Amino acid sequence: MSDRSHRITAIPGDGVGPEVTRSAVRIIDAAGVAVEWEWAEAGAEVFKRGDTSGVPSETRESIERTRVVLKGPLETPVGFGEKSANVTLRKLFETFANVRPARELPGVPTRYSGEGVDLVIVRENLEDLYAGIEHMQTPDVGQTLKVISRKGSEKIIRYAFELARQEGRRKVTAATKANIMKLTEGLFKRTFEEIATEYPEIEAEHLIIDNVAHQLAKNPAQFDIIVTTNLNGDIISDLASGLVGGLGFAPSGNYGDRVSIFEAVHGSAPKHAGKDVINPTALILSSIMMLRHIGEADAADRIEDAVLVTLEEGKAATQDLVRQTGGDVAQAASTTGFTDTVIGNLGRHPTTVPARHGTERPSGPATPRPRWSYAPEVYAAISRKTIGIDVFIEEDTTADALGPEMEALAGADLTLQMVSSRGTMVYPSTGLGSDDVRLWRCRFVSPTDANVPDHVFIALLDRVAGRHPGWTHVEKLHVFDGEPGFTKAQGQ
Ligand code: NAD
Repeated sequence: MSDRSHRITAIPGDGVGPEVTRSAVRIIDAAGVAVEWEWAEAGAEVFKRGDTSGVPSETRESIERTRVVLKGPLETPVGFGEKSANVTLRKLFETFANVRPARELPGVPTRYSGEGVDLVIVRENLEDLYAGIEHMQTPDVGQTLKVISRKGSEKIIRYAFELARQEGRRKVTAATKANIMKLTEGLFKRTFEEIATEYPEIEAEHLIIDNVAHQLAKNPAQFDIIVTTNLNGDIISDLASGLVGGLGFAPSGNYGDRVSIFEAVHGSAPKHAGKDVINPTALILSSIMMLRHIGEADAADRIEDAVLVTLEEGKAATQDLVRQTGGDVAQAASTTGFTDTVIGNLGRHPTTVPARHGTERPSGPATPRPRWSYAPEVYAAISRKTIGIDVFIEEDTTADALGPEMEALAGADLTLQMVSSRGTMVYPSTGLGSDDVRLWRCRFVSPTDANVPDHVFIALLDRVAGRHPGWTHVEKLHVFDGEPGFTKAQGQ
């Protein structure tokens, strides 16, 4: 144990949050780690007071000071306008890496018990569809932008390889949907293939995300580290939690260059709130990740051992575990009872689980700052030109009526290449159908693939808007280093 005192922001959160947070804090205190807890607020009550961010300024200031957060789940009130306070916290403090280990635990029987499931999902935490850029294009058509950057991809992919090195793991699997989304998921895949060459001792493989889901259900022990984009990671990390006993046992850490946030994967489970029945293991395991992160590896090892002994002996199983094992729920341990048992087991070692700590799997970084803090260059293309524009129009019409009209509006420097509906080309007709949702994309391109100056687009838009006030947005068609920065429509 280090003799340095740590300041940590503790956010109890909503629903069962205060109960699980109290449990983790009591165990850390009992293990003798010197922590000055700064208790702070976020979540439902804050929203109810009219703060639409869900994270008040005092809480932000505390996190700026401590740079380490232990938090309970925060409820996202169902309503219009409020963003998830969880996502807000992750984004405000740029915690780009969401790390979710899923490891077989003693005394927690699952379909995979004995297979040695021990994997980590490293999920990009800031980009993708979670950038939260959404627009209603018409009253009936919504759109979310999927934003994937080379810089964001490089950071998370390096993080995954560094974690593999640090934990002595042998394989990193990238999980993407690059076969369909070539410019977003494809960018992630290409970046993975580049970065992998810098880690020759680690096996690098790429699998399509749907296959990863299939393989996780069939043979999860084949995986070591899985690195993936935000939405993919959200889904498969819950899947992975299910492999090792459920949400009661699923920890996570959100790591950034400056701030790190540790929380259980589960939510506020409101129906269990205030009853002293919830399983606090997930947040306790998250707090073990936190202790390793702040350089308290010995205390982390002692608490981990005490949790494993408690699960192994099965004398303090909470309701969720008793249900899984078919036992009598009336005999289940309370949250407080489980916590007391873990505290009582500090100093003991599990007998059925090989120690994770030690040389084979060195625990987290010895300094508070993650050593994988990188600032990759923002990629600058060597050559670029803009060869056209997509204009999206809301209109009650048909493709066969709209097409010729747009051809007439194209002007001398542009030509109408096609009209598509929901990504499928409908003009010129290919015989393929797409339901009419009254939102059309008209693609205008330079007939000679030449760079088109802005004044040509502005004049075009002026002509289109004069006839079609329902135009909703435009996208320029760029070519970077000879590679089109846009996709074709289906059927084109
Ligand atoms: P949930 O995870 O809160 O609960 C789903 C069910 O899982 C519970 O009813 C319970 O049966 C079980 N469960 C969850 N945690 C458990 C534990 N520790 N021990 C035993 N059983 C447990 O999911 P939900 O009901 O979909 O979400 C409730 C609220 O939590 C929502 O407002 C949601 O937005 C929020 N949420 C927050 C976070 C976060 O703070 N990171 C994550 C997920 C959901």
